[in-house]
Amino acid sequence: MTTHPQPWIVVVGAGLGGLTLAAVLHRHGVPVVVLDRDDGPHARVQGGMLDLHEESGQAALRAAGLEEAFRAQVLPGGEAMRVLDPAGCVLHAEEDDGDGDRPEIQRETLRDLLLAALPRGTVRWAAAVRTVRALGDGRHEVVLGAGETLVADLLVGADGAWSRVRALLSDAEPAYSGVAFAATRLREVDVRHPVPAAVVGAGLMFALGDHRGFIAHREPGATLEVYAALRVDDPAEMARLAAGGGLLARFDGWAPALRSLITEADEPFVPRAIHALPVGHAWEHRPGVTLLGDAAHVMSPFAGEGANLAMQDAADLAAALLAHGVGTAAGRERAIADHEAAMVPRAAAAAAESAANLDLAFGPDGGHALRDVMASHHG
Ligand SMILES: Cc1cc2nc3c(=O)[nH]c(=O)nc-3n(C[C@H](O)[C@H](O)[C@H](O)COP(=O)(O)OP(=O)(O)OC[C@H]3O[C@@H](n4cnc5c(N)ncnc54)[C@H](O)[C@@H]3O)c2cc1C
Repeated sequence: MTTHPQPWIVVVGAGLGGLTLAAVLHRHGVPVVVLDRDDGPHARVQGGMLDLHEESGQAALRAAGLEEAFRAQVLPGGEAMRVLDPAGCVLHAEEDDGDGDRPEIQRETLRDLLLAALPRGTVRWAAAVRTVRALGDGRHEVVLGAGETLVADLLVGADGAWSRVRALLSDAEPAYSGVAFAATRLREVDVRHPVPAAVVGAGLMFALGDHRGFIAHREPGATLEVYAALRVDDPAEMARLAAGGGLLARFDGWAPALRSLITEADEPFVPRAIHALPVGHAWEHRPGVTLLGDAAHVMSPFAGEGANLAMQDAADLAAALLAHGVGTAAGRERAIADHEAAMVPRAAAAAAESAANLDLAFGPDGGHALRDVMASHHG
């Protein structure tokens, strides 16, 4: 017979949100199990740079005792940012001033850092949750793909945009935003791809106009992560373009340096439709279960907040559980109520901002519109 801790806290999803929750609770001696459907931490390319904000992502890492380890992994120069128009003219540029206000880290590195803080066995890989069911007494039955059943005293859905746990609380489903990305990478760019390397610069580059554009990020190891983005009614169209080589034609007339982000790609383009839950997604509180991160509020990446919010949600939920006491159902209920009351309005504000930014960025003159947003943020 398997034994497990009391109470049995089951977190579904070993993304940044689920792992942050586990890391903060573990630091305070509260064990959890984290279930993830992936076969292991590196089963999928995690890709991408994230800038962690002081009040959210960084605060969560402090709560997990990982701030120093994080600082050691930050990409120097990564805070640089520029906005271009389709002709390649720079409309707005910010250098990395080295104040470390929004340090950039590779998503995979960040996830590894959180995993390393957890005792072996906390995360169970290849543990896809198939169904979840309320037992009526505040506990939930979680059935895994392999048929195994767990009964959770507290069930946390940190299982991302297409969350299974969410169905216990809400009927909402993410809707297609009208914008689809196709992702690729360019490697050893200083030697092999000097033109794309120069147009992207040291950090993040947006080139936008005519309802389309490029978003590209320089990563450690002289790699560029590139997203070509289009406003398309049907995301299947992006999948066809990405597979069939039709992407370049959508950028006819764009500066050759920008087009080189497609022609010099080292990897096949992978399509990714951008989805979002309704702004302000909320639910009636139910005992024994809650959500955090994308499961609660997936939004387009145009506020740069999704990962930061997931980590902040997790750190706040952990703090509330520690404050009210995980040992009793009443303590856990108060913690869930506090967490949801803080998370819902915070996420709604970011989701509204990201939806507005998406509309501006993929409007007729996205470059100038984004420049104005940046200029208003940075005075
Ligand atoms: C292109 C792009 C760029 C982005 N850029 C930024 C950025 O610059 N800054 C920023 O802050 N945010 C950014 N985001 C948003 C950010 O990636 C997400 O908000 C963040 O990863 C959410 O974390 P999470 O832990 O809630 O969910 P996820 O990272 O999605 O993790 C969910 C986990 O749950 C697991 N899972 C799912 N279903 C099941 C199941 N049934 N059973 C078991 N496990 C399951 C998955 O395998 C996964 O590991 C970006 C997003 C995109 C798409």
